[in-house]
Amino acid sequence: MGIPYGRQSISDADIAAVADVLRGDWLTIGPMVGTFEKAIAEVASTPDAVAVNSGTSALHSAYAASGITRGDEVVTTPLTFVATAATAMAQGATIRFADIQPDTGNIDPTAVAEQINERTKVVAAVDYAGHPADLDDLSTIAHDAGALLLEDAAHAIGSIYRGRVVGSISDLTTFSFFPTKNMTTAEGGAVVSPDPALIDGARRFKGHGMVRDRSQLRYPDEGPWHQEVQSLGLNYRLPDVLCALGVSQIARIAEFKQRRTAIFDHYVASLSDVPGLTLPTKREDVDPMWHLFPVRVHDGQRRRVFDHLRDNGVLVQVNYIPVYWHPVFEDLGYRRGMCPVAEQFYREEISLPMYADLSRSDQDRVIEVLRQALA
Ligand SMILES: *Cc1c(COP(=O)(O)O)cnc(C)c1O
Repeated sequence: MGIPYGRQSISDADIAAVADVLRGDWLTIGPMVGTFEKAIAEVASTPDAVAVNSGTSALHSAYAASGITRGDEVVTTPLTFVATAATAMAQGATIRFADIQPDTGNIDPTAVAEQINERTKVVAAVDYAGHPADLDDLSTIAHDAGALLLEDAAHAIGSIYRGRVVGSISDLTTFSFFPTKNMTTAEGGAVVSPDPALIDGARRFKGHGMVRDRSQLRYPDEGPWHQEVQSLGLNYRLPDVLCALGVSQIARIAEFKQRRTAIFDHYVASLSDVPGLTLPTKREDVDPMWHLFPVRVHDGQRRRVFDHLRDNGVLVQVNYIPVYWHPVFEDLGYRRGMCPVAEQFYREEISLPMYADLSRSDQDRVIEVLRQALA
């Protein structure tokens, strides 16, 4: 089997919550959707939330809500999953990559300032590994240029930045509920915003752009059956069945954070003296919900250490290949060397197992195998 780098934590209560919905009347559009959205809004400290069927559809809906279109530009980090960039491109935007900070792996505000221009409509930051980006600086830079700050918080639901919870800070924040993330709905995601107009835009986009509210119809006298598509959207709905799992999972979020923090602390205590290894940075002004435990292996030893871990049942991962290294970006003219800090980070990075149900004995096994590799 081996020890995976991430996995879900499913309780009997989670299973019962899903089974209850399966026995009921609604499988998809039902009462759990609103209940889950309220619970997300509470955790994110926002007026409302939009539940969608993946972190990718959350990003796509958030970009759609921002109004980006062909000719607009988005500045984002190369150290992320491809969806952060791909969903903006699906709306017609052009991506500019800004390099990262070498300690946190988060997008560097100075590099953003160099890439931003009058065509920039969105600055998209990622809270890499769960550690919030420099959100105040990024927000100032984006707003001064007339752009919005979008935070891809796929790693960071439950993280805190300068006393404020992730979700309440940026113009738009997206979450992912993929099984390896901090909580799960199998597939799922959400968009939150302090701005009700942006929430409305995301909600409309996830449901075909359909308008039902009579006061907003262009042709209100068409008949009681009438609904209108006033802007294009898609079907990105999260089914009621999965919202029930989400409601049950989100009730466990404090427990998850406690577990992830304990695992983080044990890694730090056990690996600080290992030569040739850099451990993740935690800045003073944040309290992360750690999604990953990204170490960096020096002196070109990453591949050897990675193979040693995998060969010994520690199923580590690498997060991430710089986005513009993917052939689809290369074919568009993006070239290696563009963001040297992100490329160096990638060359050294390995994500150690980090998930709520990781047992102390499994974690000690990971530590032992890693120490062996670097001895
Ligand atoms: C997981 C992830 C996504 C995509 O989420 P899905 O739910 O898998 O679609 C987007 N951005 C980042 C940074 C992620 O880690």
